[in-house]
Amino acid sequence: MLSVSGIHTYYGAVHALKGVDLEVAQGEIVALIGANGAGKSTLLMTICGNPRPRRGSVALAGENIVGVPMYHLVRRGLAHAPEGRRIFPRMTVLENLRMGAVVADPANFDSDLERVFSLFPRLKERRDQRGGTLSGGEQQMLAIARALMSRPRLLLLDEPSLGLAPLVVRQIFSIIEEINRRDGVTVLLVEQNAYHALKLAHRGYVLVNGQITLSGSGADLLANEQIRAAYLEGGHG
Ligand code: ATP
Repeated sequence: MLSVSGIHTYYGAVHALKGVDLEVAQGEIVALIGANGAGKSTLLMTICGNPRPRRGSVALAGENIVGVPMYHLVRRGLAHAPEGRRIFPRMTVLENLRMGAVVADPANFDSDLERVFSLFPRLKERRDQRGGTLSGGEQQMLAIARALMSRPRLLLLDEPSLGLAPLVVRQIFSIIEEINRRDGVTVLLVEQNAYHALKLAHRGYVLVNGQITLSGSGADLLANEQIRAAYLEGGHG
């Protein structure tokens, strides 16, 4: 479904991605793990076209999408729930969800809203509250819910567990699993929380300093000594 090949991305003189190859097959959950500054967010943003890669290609369902604006990509089934819970703070929960649904068929709005509210009952309770006054966890839920309202086939999730309490992290991860299993949404998940991400994912990639250094099944990566030492020590290792 997604094929990233030989991507080089720069921020001015900073060479952030140095020849990244990555594949996500339909129906998979793929985790991308790595330390701060490895280039994880840059990879998701490059897939969405901003920044644009200087070299390499990105294909969605077999078609090159480099240079295609994000609003067209959303229509082709791509959704991005970015890091930092970039919801619209002055809009209510419901208005945020409407923004997510602008490319979807209006006839599906009510049923899609019910589906999203059944995944995130907290958002239903807060439907008239402004996004900016939600708690961190609620904002994260809203970012994911808003992305789902476009009915994506491929969902890019950037650090959904960032800054959240362990209980909320478990909730979010079980919802990601449900979206994948029940709704058939393919997921590319960027995470620093390597333990949860690799437990959930079918496959994973490790990004170090702009390059993929390891890839394999979630279970194999979890059992890998290098990964345990670098990313799982002190937590769940
Ligand atoms: P984190 O887990 O801390 O969010 P990350 O793996 O997502 O890290 P990126 O945010 O993709 O890493 O950053 C990759 C590299 O690119 C870093 O060295 C970062 O400083 C640099 N970088 C990111 N955004 C910019 C920018 N707008 N201008 C210049 N350099 C940038």
